Parts: sequence; structure tokens; C-alpha cells
Amino acid sequence: MAIISYKCPNCDGELIFEPSTQKYKCEYCGSLFSQEELDAMKPAEGSERIDDGAQTAEESPREENGETAAAGAVIYSCPSCGAQIVTDDTTAATFCYYCHNPVVLGGRLEGKYLPDKIIPFAVTREAAEKGFGEYISKKKFVPKAFFSKKQIESMTGVYFPYWIYDTKLEGSMQAEGRNIRVWRSGDTEFTETKFYHVQREGEVELSNLSENALKKANAKLAKNMLPYDFSKMKEFKTGYLSGFLAERRDIEKQEVEGKMQQEMRENAERLLRETIKGYNSVSVRNTRIVPKKENWSYVLFPVWTLTYKAKGGQIYYYSMNGQTGKVSGELPIDYAKVTVVSAVCAAAALVLALIGGFFL
Ligand SMILES: [Zn+2]
Ligand SMILES: [Zn+2]
Repeated sequence: MAIISYKCPNCDGELIFEPSTQKYKCEYCGSLFSQEELDAMKPAEGSERIDDGAQTAEESPREENGETAAAGAVIYSCPSCGAQIVTDDTTAATFCYYCHNPVVLGGRLEGKYLPDKIIPFAVTREAAEKGFGEYISKKKFVPKAFFSKKQIESMTGVYFPYWIYDTKLEGSMQAEGRNIRVWRSGDTEFTETKFYHVQREGEVELSNLSENALKKANAKLAKNMLPYDFSKMKEFKTGYLSGFLAERRDIEKQEVEGKMQQEMRENAERLLRETIKGYNSVSVRNTRIVPKKENWSYVLFPVWTLTYKAKGGQIYYYSMNGQTGKVSGELPIDYAKVTVVSAVCAAAALVLALIGGFFL
């Protein structure tokens, strides 16, 4: 299975995942299908080949992920129209540039790249566009081109890859607690210091620490998008990607696990420390945190994104968490607008000065 496109059984139109109903909708006849119904369908498949132009992917030397890493760009043929779709090697879902039908590059998400879980889009395109309008209206000096109709229509839903880490830790902590009492009797001041040996032991379960799993430049679009509501996380199904773009991870667990384990140890230490109360001062003498059980999941999180390339080539962006609607971005500044406003301010100051001068 390489390249997939889900077709409506009633009219052969494209099926895309619809955030408002959490079902699959035919863009042409409007029919809705549940996950179970989609699972029962056989998706249309296209073919995949590496961009040396001669070999099919099946014939070419393969790595574990199903493609030759050196190739970089990979060409697929669209299951709907046969057009060739060129992608880079982390793309997992995209659109055909010719017929605009959504295609899911199933082969990109197999084996060790098969996500364990996914948070499906819950924010509709309409809501994402509306949110953008409101965000922009609060900002000054943004060039018109950034929020033109054409630009807003280019807003794209992208699934970004993340690592999630759950762990159970066993911890013990020894500390010295001090309580000091001062009192006076006649001319003498007495100080009493009581020392306590404090011992804590416990098990801490920490879950859902998440870490970005994409190195590529566009990972920036998913910055500041956390947190997500993990209770809405679903078992991964390829169908969720239909109608969206998706990135495959290019950061492996080994690259982030040290940092994430350290963060969890610090959390556990802090939780243990917080149980020591009732002393004037506490000094921790010894702490031991041992991981007992850990679990890693590879997941995809939804983000609505909009990018804008300024004259100098710099890319600005707007992003919205595709589940919660939280917004973040880096906006271009229109210096012409800034100048006009400062000129107006200067003029206003001059008028005030003149009025002042006149009356005084
Ligand atoms: Zn249909
Ligand atoms: Zn096509």
C-alpha cells in the first residue's frame, strides 16, 4: 500500500475527514461515513517511485522506511487523475496539484513510522479562518497581502509528528528540616533549634510529556501549539489524514529521550519535595529517582497554518491549534503603515502645540 485516496461509494467523489462531525464527508454529494464504514471500504491506490525516473519503488534498493533516503524527493502518481505528485521524504499526506484531490501516502506511515495515536482535527476550516480574522484585527501594521482573501484560502490543516512519554518512577528523598523558636525571659534571649530527619518514599506516575519530532523548517509552525487535550486522542487511522497535509517524523526517540527523561526526573523530584511541609527551612540531602516503567508513543497533532513570504524571502506565519483553537504566529510588519502612523502622531503633536501656543 503506497498512495491512498478514499472514494465515495455513492458518486466516486473524494472523501475527506470533517472536523465538525468527526466523520468522512463526500465533497460532491455530501454523504457522511463513519470510521467503521470507511474501514470497510477499499481505498483507491496509486503507485510510487523514486525520482531517478527508471525504477519503481519496489525494484529500487529499499531502506526500512520504504524509500531510498538519498532520493529526497519522491514521485507518486495520483490515484484519481494519474498526475505525478512530487513530495519530499517526510510528507505523509498531501493534495494532487492537478485535480486537488486529497492523497494519503500510506507507505510513509508504515512499520516504525506507523503512528500509535492521533488527535483528529476538531476546528473546522471556517472557524480557523474566522480566528485568523480576529487575530489579525488586533494587530497593527500588518501588510494587506497577509490577510487577502486568496491568502486566507491557502490556509492548510497539517498533522505534525510528536513523541509522547509516559513513565512510572520510584523516588526517595532524605532531607533535614529545621524549626526555630525564639523567646525572651528577663534579659536573656533563648533560641531553640529542632532538627528533623525527613524521609520520603513514593511512586510517581507522570504521563503525556510531549516533544516535537520534526526537524524540518516548517516545524516552526507547530511551535507554541501545546497543550493538547490528550483525552480526545484516538487510535491512529489513515483516514483522518484525508483532506489534510501530514508530516512524518525526522527526529528519532534516541535524540529526545535523554532530555525528556531528565524533565520527568525533575518533575518527580519536585513532587517529592512538595510533600515536605511544616518546617521553617528544609535542606535536601539526598534524592534518588529510578524509572520503573516507561512508554513511548509516536503521535500526530493537528495545526491550521497560514504562511506568508515577504519580499526579502522571510517566511511569516499564523498557526492555530486544530483541536483547541489556541493561536500563535509571527507577523510581518508593514513599515509604510508604521511611518504613516508616526507622521499622524507628529502632526497631532504639532496641532496640540499650536493650540497650546494659541491659548497661552
Ligand atoms: Zn459522494
Ligand atoms: Zn490528481
